Amino acid sequence: MNIPSSELPRIIVIGGGFAGIAFIKKMIKAPVQIVLFDKHNYHTFQPLLYQVSTAGLEPDSIAYPLRKIFRKHDDFHFRLATVEHIEVASKEVHTSIGNLSFDYLVIATGTRTNYFGNEAIEKNSMAMKTVPQALNIRSLMLQNIEEADQSDDAQKRKRLLNFVIAGAGPTGVELAGALSEFRKGILENDYPELEEEEMEIHLLEGGDKVLGPMSDTSSKKAQQFLENMGVHIHLNTMVNDYDGTTVTTKDGTTFETATFIWAAGVTGAPVAGIAAAHLVEKQNRYKVDRYNRIEGLEDIFALGDIALMETEAFPKGHPQVAQPALQQGKHLANNLQKHLKQQEMEPFTYFDKGTMATIGRNRAVVDFKKMRFGGAFAWLLWMFVHLWFLVGFRNRVVTFFNWTYNYINYDRAARLIIRPYKNR
Ligand SMILES: Cc1cc2nc3c(=O)[nH]c(=O)nc-3n(C[C@H](O)[C@H](O)[C@H](O)COP(=O)(O)OP(=O)(O)OC[C@H]3O[C@@H](n4cnc5c(N)ncnc54)[C@H](O)[C@@H]3O)c2cc1C
Repeated sequence: MNIPSSELPRIIVIGGGFAGIAFIKKMIKAPVQIVLFDKHNYHTFQPLLYQVSTAGLEPDSIAYPLRKIFRKHDDFHFRLATVEHIEVASKEVHTSIGNLSFDYLVIATGTRTNYFGNEAIEKNSMAMKTVPQALNIRSLMLQNIEEADQSDDAQKRKRLLNFVIAGAGPTGVELAGALSEFRKGILENDYPELEEEEMEIHLLEGGDKVLGPMSDTSSKKAQQFLENMGVHIHLNTMVNDYDGTTVTTKDGTTFETATFIWAAGVTGAPVAGIAAAHLVEKQNRYKVDRYNRIEGLEDIFALGDIALMETEAFPKGHPQVAQPALQQGKHLANNLQKHLKQQEMEPFTYFDKGTMATIGRNRAVVDFKKMRFGGAFAWLLWMFVHLWFLVGFRNRVVTFFNWTYNYINYDRAARLIIRPYKNR
């Protein structure tokens, strides 16, 4: 592989997500060579993917070129490649562009969509984990509305204008709220022949509340917001099947829909080569110690969503959200620098800064340790936090401008079918 040889110890990082980037940013000035592999040439800000799906933001507002983040550093090298295998004994990674040896390996590969083995759902539903997938949803949504507008067959129109989402976690809730805003702001203005009530949004949840990980106060408030926005919520509803036309639930209820979005779960995205004994089977996450070292392995670390660190406060591991990934990334960089100086490493402790979710215009919910609130202030806070953590000054400015414009005009200007979605 075309990587300059170096006297410095080589750290290979797999994955330029929140954890990988946070690690490299803190590590980059240390006397090491860093090689980052990612199968995309950009970092994705996943919390705002739903805005791309619903035409609120352009994809380039939430993605950022990985090379640009670290371009001023001589001992940093990015390679666009998928890591396919890790050779633990010989300390080597096998990638789609060749093999490379490492002194230290940092695995930060995140998660992928979990279909729980249901092949029909995997084949026919829409997932929202990557920018291309979010763009597929945007195209499909707009194509279906256009097709409904062209049809005088009531049954067909109903299927095309029925939007069904599985999973009422933050992703499902945010998506349902954004679709409802699309219906209010865009459908009634752009499509005068369609009635607003013809477009239905159904949110199906296997558990007994929306926003499962959040407090009951926030969950109830979010449900109330969604219902006021005309979203139909179906709790204790497990999806069994989707054949491309009909969603069938465990109790036999059916929903005719041409747009079924699967936001019901994720599972770790480990790389082959590290034995199953190092994985927590159900979640596909690497078991790590308090230093993010994969238990039983030397010089191989895992960070963020793919790592499962059991602590007293988090006996089942940290939540798979951005904060643990960012904090672990920074912490491991500090620890590795200590390790290189033969100093003792420090155990990781997660600082929980709280949780938030937005439902729509002036509507969000926030859980802090000692305080829970919802409404317009929560929404402003949600916007501020998301702008703050977006990578790149340009992205922050463009997103802020878009949000302000959309707020004033009730608009979602990116409603463009650039590359039609074809899976039918
Ligand atoms: C739709 C959605 C909404 C979310 N909303 C929120 C939210 O509001 N707040 C919040 O805190 N969290 C949210 N999350 C969760 C949050 O995005 C994750 O917890 C966070 O991204 C984890 O960071 P990570 O670095 O571990 O993994 P990721 O950010 O997923 O990064 C993994 C990287 O690894 C790369 N990769 C994977 N496998 C390979 C391989 N074999 N070879 C090369 N590259 C590879 C991927 O391309 C990717 O760039 C959301 C997630 C999704 C999907």
